[in-house]
Amino acid sequence: MFVILDKCDRCGFCIVECALNAIEMGKVINRIIPERCTSCGACVPVCPLGVIVEQPSQANDAPADAASGTAT
Ligand code: SF4
Ligand code: SF4
Repeated sequence: MFVILDKCDRCGFCIVECALNAIEMGKVINRIIPERCTSCGACVPVCPLGVIVEQPSQANDAPADAASGTAT
């Protein structure tokens, strides 16, 4: 998915570009609504500040060997 970084100045170009209305204007920076965003990437090149970036999905990355260690 894509996220908007803190440097966003709310110019609004990305909102115009996103056909899915997946970007909302926030009080400080704009925000991508993850439920709507399809990660099409169309908003990325229109951002003059380059603050729309792809974020790796946080998949099941839990450590599997948490139970190892000293046993009784
Ligand atoms: S185009 Fe970039 S700087 Fe402009 S509102 Fe969108 S994320 Fe912010
Ligand atoms: S990646 Fe596509 S769907 Fe997601 S916010 Fe940008 S333009 Fe909209």
